[in-house]
Amino acid sequence: MVIGAGIAGLTAARVLSDRYDQVTVLDRDELPDEPVPRRGVPQGTQPHILLASGLRELDARLPGFEAELIAAGGTKFDMGTGLCTYRLGRRWPSVATGVELVAATRPLIEGLLRDRVTKLPGVTIRHRVAVSGLTGSAAGVTGVLLDSGETIGSGLVVDCTGRGARSDRWLTALGLPTPAQLEVKVGVAYASRLYRRRPGDLPDWEAIFTLPTSPHERVDGLVFPVEGDRWLVAIGGWHFPEVPTDVEAFERFARELPDPLLGELIGRAEPLSDIVVAKFPSSRRRLFEQLEEPPPGYVALGDAICSVNPIYGQGMACAALSAGALGAALDKHSGTAMAREYYAAVATIVETPWQFAVGGDFGYSQTTGPRPRGIKLLNWYSRQIAYASQIDAEVNRAFVRVQQLLDPPSVLTRPEFVLRVLRKAGERRRQG
Ligand SMILES: Cc1cc2nc3c(=O)[nH]c(=O)nc-3n(C[C@H](O)[C@H](O)[C@H](O)COP(=O)(O)OP(=O)(O)OC[C@H]3O[C@@H](n4cnc5c(N)ncnc54)[C@H](O)[C@@H]3O)c2cc1C
Repeated sequence: MVIGAGIAGLTAARVLSDRYDQVTVLDRDELPDEPVPRRGVPQGTQPHILLASGLRELDARLPGFEAELIAAGGTKFDMGTGLCTYRLGRRWPSVATGVELVAATRPLIEGLLRDRVTKLPGVTIRHRVAVSGLTGSAAGVTGVLLDSGETIGSGLVVDCTGRGARSDRWLTALGLPTPAQLEVKVGVAYASRLYRRRPGDLPDWEAIFTLPTSPHERVDGLVFPVEGDRWLVAIGGWHFPEVPTDVEAFERFARELPDPLLGELIGRAEPLSDIVVAKFPSSRRRLFEQLEEPPPGYVALGDAICSVNPIYGQGMACAALSAGALGAALDKHSGTAMAREYYAAVATIVETPWQFAVGGDFGYSQTTGPRPRGIKLLNWYSRQIAYASQIDAEVNRAFVRVQQLLDPPSVLTRPEFVLRVLRKAGERRRQG
């Protein structure tokens, strides 16, 4: 039984379908036939990129998925030559990294996934079914309780209800242990708008990513190509109560970005939608891996475990990789032992995104919450890597591969790599 038919729920269902005769996915939303945003996934209006690792994972589990996504209007590009990155006061050079990702709307990515998962033998997706609790006892979870009062038994319940997961309440009600939680308040907000995309709009690039330099700048700008020959343009920021809700403010923030490219583009392009705002008050992580006796019969997956500041676009890839970890744990163990092994693997998967995002978040004095250990050194070194990446393709490629969850972060701390970073960062700073 999978609760939630978002990216986590669908990838979990795919993995479970190899191991169980029957997999039922429940979602409280009306799941639309068309790729349009829906209520249960409010972030679906905002830009979403599928990182190389997530793309690889989904394509391996659902062969042909990547080709379908591109045929439906997704755009694949190299991080180095496609994404016009402006960071730490300069536009980065166009140099191939060999790491490719896909931009499309979140509803399209989810809709294609759902189409594929629906066709798997033994999988049933039921919509407009809200779960309000779990059944079982202090010995373990045995199923779910629906809003209607109906109960459905299951050998395993996979909680993919997203960042608003009510697992703490649900598990406590059965007398089961709940995990400690980390919360880092970032006050992130995004405003987005769709524009018509015409050939030649951005002659040298496929997308734009303009990042602020903390602590004195707070606003970022994103432009991604999406299906239907449209640009999805977003203005976002940390501790950003003044997130633009009207056209005049949206365009003003766009013009004030340190790289003029985004402002110039929307000055020429035809708007196709209103401005839609999404707020992300805090990054949240539930430390299931610390539970000595994780509840048998139940696991959480996706944002229900870890939901980080989306600036690096890692959430969907994390969900897909975690589903893979669930499959691997199920192949070896059952009950508590399975859950323990699974949560340990997920802790490793989400650690990099958590460190990346939370590290950057603490560049702002308004950010509150538990600081990762060694954060000052980490942030200082991250900045040296960013400076070095501006002039050194090898450093850039290594960094991008870690950020895209293709390589472990340990590659960035190998002695020869650290020396190269420090040398190149020094060179870059001397250039002014
Ligand atoms: C502004 C923004 C931009 C982002 N950009 C990116 C990006 O570029 N790339 C990227 O990879 N990630 C991005 N993310 C993160 C990404 O959206 C999430 O990590 C991802 O959607 C997690 O998927 P999920 O399935 O865990 O949760 P969700 O997608 O939130 O799905 C949860 C599902 O559970 C259902 N549900 C909830 N409660 C119940 C219940 N009680 N009963 C039944 N059903 C229930 C909901 O209806 C929903 O379908 C972004 C997030 C935000 C906020």
